[in-house]
Amino acid sequence: MAKHVFVTGGVASALGKGLTASSLGRLLKMRGLRVTMQKLDPYINIDPGTMNPFEHGEVFVTDDGGETDLDLGHYERFIDENLTRSSNATTGSIYQAVLAAERRGDYLGRTVQVIPHVTDEIKRRIQRITTEDVDVMITEVGGTVGDIEILPFLESIRQWRNEVGRDNVCYIHVTLVPFIGPSGEQKTKPTQHSVTELRSRGIQPDVIVCRSDQPLSDGLKRKISGQCDVPIRNVINAADVGNIYELPLILHDEGLDTVVCETLRIERELDLSPWQALVARVEAATSPVRIGLIGKYVDLHDAYLSVAESLRHAGFHHGAKVEIEWIQAEEVEGLLADDRMTSLDGIVIPGGFGPRGVEGKIRAAGYAREHGVPCLGLCLGMQVMTVEFARNVLGLDDANSTEFNPATPHPVIDLMNDQREVTDKGGTMRLGAYYAVLQPGSKVSKAYNEPVVSERHRHRYEFNSAYRARFEEAGFLCSGTSPDKRLVEFIELEEHPFWVGTQAHPEFKSRPDRAHPLFRDLIGAALEYRTHRLGVNQVNAQSGAVEHAR
Ligand code: GLN
Repeated sequence: MAKHVFVTGGVASALGKGLTASSLGRLLKMRGLRVTMQKLDPYINIDPGTMNPFEHGEVFVTDDGGETDLDLGHYERFIDENLTRSSNATTGSIYQAVLAAERRGDYLGRTVQVIPHVTDEIKRRIQRITTEDVDVMITEVGGTVGDIEILPFLESIRQWRNEVGRDNVCYIHVTLVPFIGPSGEQKTKPTQHSVTELRSRGIQPDVIVCRSDQPLSDGLKRKISGQCDVPIRNVINAADVGNIYELPLILHDEGLDTVVCETLRIERELDLSPWQALVARVEAATSPVRIGLIGKYVDLHDAYLSVAESLRHAGFHHGAKVEIEWIQAEEVEGLLADDRMTSLDGIVIPGGFGPRGVEGKIRAAGYAREHGVPCLGLCLGMQVMTVEFARNVLGLDDANSTEFNPATPHPVIDLMNDQREVTDKGGTMRLGAYYAVLQPGSKVSKAYNEPVVSERHRHRYEFNSAYRARFEEAGFLCSGTSPDKRLVEFIELEEHPFWVGTQAHPEFKSRPDRAHPLFRDLIGAALEYRTHRLGVNQVNAQSGAVEHAR
């Protein structure tokens, strides 16, 4: 029978519960256990697909087309398993199922209530992915204890232990131990209150993970142990780390996986060596490379979480430390005018929706094309590269995507017929994994080293194939298409070191120890460009010095 770990949070949101859960998942996997993970989100949206990235950060897309919480990206990157849409359930989706059942007459004659109908549906969601090939299921409950919306979830996980037995469930509570400046002390009171709140819902945590900026002393751990009634070994400190991939090792040193296994009566040897090797590689990645990320939500880095992680993974591959320059798309014009883009070694133009910032992204794509700067376009990024080339190389004035100008004379990016009729906003895009056939000899085919690849999608608009021949005559290669050749999936310039775009979102498939081929080659090209760039500057500086001496 599968064992269950439930992770809740208290005191504050954004404590890194997802990273803690993911790190535990990896540690259990390194004990040879088969692990899967799930996020239960108490908000009422059916899924995060319709939310603004400023509200919620990136929407992570699964192979089966689920639009899910960004924590699923951490899960996939840490436990190295592809998850499905079933790994994310929200209050909205749970009520949707309960209400559909009510209309079908499944509860005929009865009053439909939170307990048992909603709680049963929550438990069904957990059960549904706890298949026979799972040894440990880790369920993270979003939000913090004390939120109104979280109550049915806490009630469901409380019932769970009673139903499956004490040795099959472990409750982990993640809290914050803040440092209060004026008194110069770390404070345990918020943790105590949070655990009291959890207990009032019938859940006594087995393990408390304390987030803090500085390490906790043993004395403080003893205090938390006494106040919250958990053995002192089960008080785990997760002090801030510079590199998230170090977290599994730190939590292991603190004993997290050991106490979880004790609670669950699991006896398995741990082999940490693969992860130690990864962390060693991360630490050795020091040679700097500067990548400009041209986005519209750049103030909230979580909006581009998987893109940023993919860039970093690619850096690990090359022994390079990727410094991301977060560039607001609307500011590109001004940066170009002031010559301030010249310190970049590469550019990534990520996905996005709506017209704001699009012209800036087009300018950035043009700058990269004209100056031989390595550039990778993802989804909208690929679309703006197409528009840029149409306007400035093919001379198609006012070429655009019909998303931004429905009346453009040259709709080089346009809706497919099956998207024209869509009126519903939720879950109606082209979503999830689709195959593409790559053109032999192209840059993308060399990068992937495979003839057919599968990538995840999330978009409505497409390259307009009516223009394809004109693009290709001018050296803009459509280097990957859908197997039926109708849709253009990859583009690149023949005469450029690396100017590559994809209609897909490859960032969702990069892993820390297996950088995605496109990001890997972007960083490879950026490192070369940097050598050239700095070499030229040095020569300029030297000739400048000579001039001066004269
Ligand atoms: N807005 C574009 C479309 O819908 C691109 C989407 C994206 O970048 N994910 O096609």
